[in-house]
Amino acid sequence: YETNIKDMERLEELGFGTCGHVIKMRHKPSNEIIAVKQMRRSGNTEENKRIIMDIEVVLKSHDCKYIVQCLGCFITDTEVWICMELMTTCFDKLLKRLGKPIPEEILGKVTVATVEALSYLKDKHGVIHRDVKPSNILLDTKGHVKLCDFGISGRLVDSMAKTRSAGCAAYLAPERIEPDPKNPDYDIRADVWSLGITLVELATGVFPYPNCTTDFEVLTKVLGQDPPSLPDTFSPEFREFVKCCLIKDQKQRPKYAKLKSLAFIKKYETKHVDVGEWAVKALKEADAVAGTTAPRSNIAQSTLR
Ligand code: ADP
Ligand code: MG
Repeated sequence: YETNIKDMERLEELGFGTCGHVIKMRHKPSNEIIAVKQMRRSGNTEENKRIIMDIEVVLKSHDCKYIVQCLGCFITDTEVWICMELMTTCFDKLLKRLGKPIPEEILGKVTVATVEALSYLKDKHGVIHRDVKPSNILLDTKGHVKLCDFGISGRLVDSMAKTRSAGCAAYLAPERIEPDPKNPDYDIRADVWSLGITLVELATGVFPYPNCTTDFEVLTKVLGQDPPSLPDTFSPEFREFVKCCLIKDQKQRPKYAKLKSLAFIKKYETKHVDVGEWAVKALKEADAVAGTTAPRSNIAQSTLR
């Protein structure tokens, strides 16, 4: 129903990224607790138009259970606030706080959810996400896994993406780093690459291009090295799935229909995995880890200074 920005009460910060801050808030009239993404509005009308278009896509995505639900937005002279359902955390924070890999079974469910969400966006709304990474895959303690942040997703214009500026460097597909002059457009398979990198990072616990201090170093390695792969401690079907996502030649890389036919997805579409139970345990463990390492890292920091 009609509501006012003054109805929102700020509770705490959930995180921040390149586009702004995400704040936990209470909607006073309904007493509902939600997440609000606050972004600065630039005077750039093109960008503002894109933000509104993205919000419309998310608002229309109520029928996909693997997409974080958008509840509405507030637009002021200086800011855009996007109100979303509140999730517990994202896989980026969980991995960093846990300090150890995410089990393959959980990643099976993450893969099913992410591929469903991405193929839904493409088929229903003609959108490619363009910023698939662990911090944009959220989870809650009931075991729901959902994709968020269409902040920079672009509508497919003439079935091809035109804007090439956005996306987190570390997860960029080769064709986005160095577009082929004869075929400079990229498609949903750039998101498939980002998913592959995300899965390797979550499965091994470390970013697959380690020891890079600049974006340039990462991008050079993405172009120059063989793609990352999973060691043989993982199941053959998981290794095969990741291998397909990380085919460097875009034209050889599968799209969603093909991915959905692979054994790894087929297995986790039907297999029962209690993601909720795991999430509760993992969050407790992460808190314990944070409790023991925080003072130590403070000492390290003060020693350095
Ligand atoms: P980025 O995704 O680039 O890290 P964002 O500004 O999109 O930056 O998000 C910042 C953090 O806020 C995320 O890492 C995530 O942990 C948290 N967050 C985002 N949306 C929600 C949500 N709906 N519920 C709970 N936490 C969220
Ligand atoms: Mg995000």
